[in-house]
Amino acid sequence: MAAQTVAVPSAGTSASASSVDLGPAAGLSCRECGTRFELGPIFACAECFGPLEVAYELPAGDPEALRAAIEAGPHNIWRYAPLLPVPTDVASKPSLNPGFTKLVDAENLAKELGVTGKLYVKDDSGNPTHSFKDRVVAIAVEAARAFGFTTLSCSSTGNLAGAVGAAAARAGFRSCVFIPHDLEQGKVVMAGVYGGDLVGIEGNYDDVNRFCSELIGDPLGEGWGFVNVNLRPYYGEGSKTLAYEICEQLGWRLPDQIVVPIASGSQLTKIDKGLQELVKLGLVEDRPYKIFGAQAEGCSPVSTAFKAGHDVVRPQKPNTIAKSLAIGNPADGPYVLDIARRTGGYVEDVTDEQVVEAIRILARTEGIFAETAGGVTVGVTKKLIENGQLDPSLTTVVLNTGDGLKTLEAVAADSGQTAVIRPSLDAFRAAGLA
Ligand SMILES: *Cc1c(COP(=O)(O)O)cnc(C)c1O
Ligand SMILES: [Zn+2]
Repeated sequence: MAAQTVAVPSAGTSASASSVDLGPAAGLSCRECGTRFELGPIFACAECFGPLEVAYELPAGDPEALRAAIEAGPHNIWRYAPLLPVPTDVASKPSLNPGFTKLVDAENLAKELGVTGKLYVKDDSGNPTHSFKDRVVAIAVEAARAFGFTTLSCSSTGNLAGAVGAAAARAGFRSCVFIPHDLEQGKVVMAGVYGGDLVGIEGNYDDVNRFCSELIGDPLGEGWGFVNVNLRPYYGEGSKTLAYEICEQLGWRLPDQIVVPIASGSQLTKIDKGLQELVKLGLVEDRPYKIFGAQAEGCSPVSTAFKAGHDVVRPQKPNTIAKSLAIGNPADGPYVLDIARRTGGYVEDVTDEQVVEAIRILARTEGIFAETAGGVTVGVTKKLIENGQLDPSLTTVVLNTGDGLKTLEAVAADSGQTAVIRPSLDAFRAAGLA
């Protein structure tokens, strides 16, 4: 449709839309009604309140040349700059340069779970602040720079706060981030150490998010870029790099099945967007893939709706150890349902006990210590195989989106010292461990 472009109100920033260089990003478009807007710090459609996303003029032409250019690029997400809303010279700006994390050929885990095809773990704990959030923040920082913001902020379930604090320190922004006050110690310390302000809110993530929405509309929040609220359209695009990397690491091939954790659902929807772009650009062969969503039972609004056949997501009050995924009212929930259904995937949940068990399985089979969110994806993968929803003979990629060192509480009780002995051979012999 030939939608007209709507000018963006200035929203307290200094940059005018015409001076914004975000590479191939041509504007924003409403996911619901398709109305086009100029690039700016806006996130909801002025016509229908639908979420906005970045619309591109993607590089046309020879897929071979594009593939070669990407392969010659830096060993981080900026190798995909031609497909992202970032300035052309992004690789020369101060950034944590996330991405290019390992795709682990998980043969031991495959054996354990009865997978006869190929099983890979995309291990995003290898990012600079040890979660996938560095990807989305890096893109939002470029938008914040382009729009003239001086303070970076966010509502966070923990990992995002750390990623924003670190990226702000590196890129020269002030930061002030908001978290539920009762997060794991590792998340709190990590978010606080970079020198920005860290505010605990008495409430859960959904309360924090509501508070941030109010702050954006208030003079108190003027000049602030909230990476996952008023910069959300740009932030979301960072998750596409997971899809790009996975396909490139598979030798420019789509995986058959991919298991993705769901908090707000942004990551899952943008992984799908990234896979589709690769097909459109001719960088991978067009063949069917299935996207599976993973939640913890104690915060399972999307899996509950999926299993009930609903297309709306009823909010829940979260109660789970998977705090990084504890969003009871996920903004992108309905789109996740669409994608899981369209691709023939499924959305499943596991109990906290199964999360802990899965963290241990991944650790002892592959030497990867995942945070609770990784326990959720591995646990859900196991359950999907047991229930016959995931085909164990195909190529499957499971995401580990965070580092177990940040959620030590989950496994601390049963991962202590096997024995404590005097420093003597007699004592060691007596312990019976030789
Ligand atoms: C934020 C986060 C996710 C996914 O978040 P979405 O809001 O669904 O994009 C997944 N895993 C971890 C560890 C996270 O911190
Ligand atoms: Zn709209």
